[in-house]
Amino acid sequence: MRNGIFGAVLASLLVPLPATASELPAGFVRLRDVDPEIRQDIRYAGSANFLKRPAKGYDAPVCILTRKAAEALSRVQKSLDPGFTLVVFDCYRPDRAVKDFANWVGQSKQKDPLWHPNVRRRDLIRQGYIASRSGHSRGSTVDLAIVPLDPAGKTANPSCGAQDTGSLDFATGFDCLDPKSRTAYSPLPKEAAANRRLLVEAMKAEGFRNYSKEWWHFTLNEEPFPKRYFDFPVTD
Ligand SMILES: [Zn+2]
Repeated sequence: MRNGIFGAVLASLLVPLPATASELPAGFVRLRDVDPEIRQDIRYAGSANFLKRPAKGYDAPVCILTRKAAEALSRVQKSLDPGFTLVVFDCYRPDRAVKDFANWVGQSKQKDPLWHPNVRRRDLIRQGYIASRSGHSRGSTVDLAIVPLDPAGKTANPSCGAQDTGSLDFATGFDCLDPKSRTAYSPLPKEAAANRRLLVEAMKAEGFRNYSKEWWHFTLNEEPFPKRYFDFPVTD
């Protein structure tokens, strides 16, 4: 009897667990498991993005990051003044979504009044607005903004980029693919320029560097997978 139980326990230890959709590669976590206070508004899982449809590989509106990046981001969240929270728009991005973006770019020469009012779609890669290979696929890059918890502090919707994010005024919305989104663009309204500096400084303090063409895009300096591009789907 005893041997039987021992044998069964031993067998259960030796049999590998079946893979499930919710399993992540080693070193990756869902941000909610590290910091449920950080808001998530994962734009490529829905249609409120420049594609106007979900991107390939986004099976759920969920932020996945390397554990190292998620923990650093949680420290940024805790460093904010009370009354504010981070909101993430994109985190780990499967390589198949990056290819989806690149294919989409090649399908038109048109501008778009909301997402790229001054840049033709076919020029978005060449001008550095969309990457043919993205740091997001390495799992330690995040797109984000700061949101006041008191809705009275939120700004009107910007004329370019993501709408209804509730964020502070950054002069453009997330994914406004335009020169105005350059972090150091000038001239900007004073408050928007100050909010960009606030975000950059808060992220820098925990080891993230900003991409100069997008005020919302940050990569962890000491990323655990500096040369690996992943392609597992975003799942819940
Ligand atoms: Zn980004």
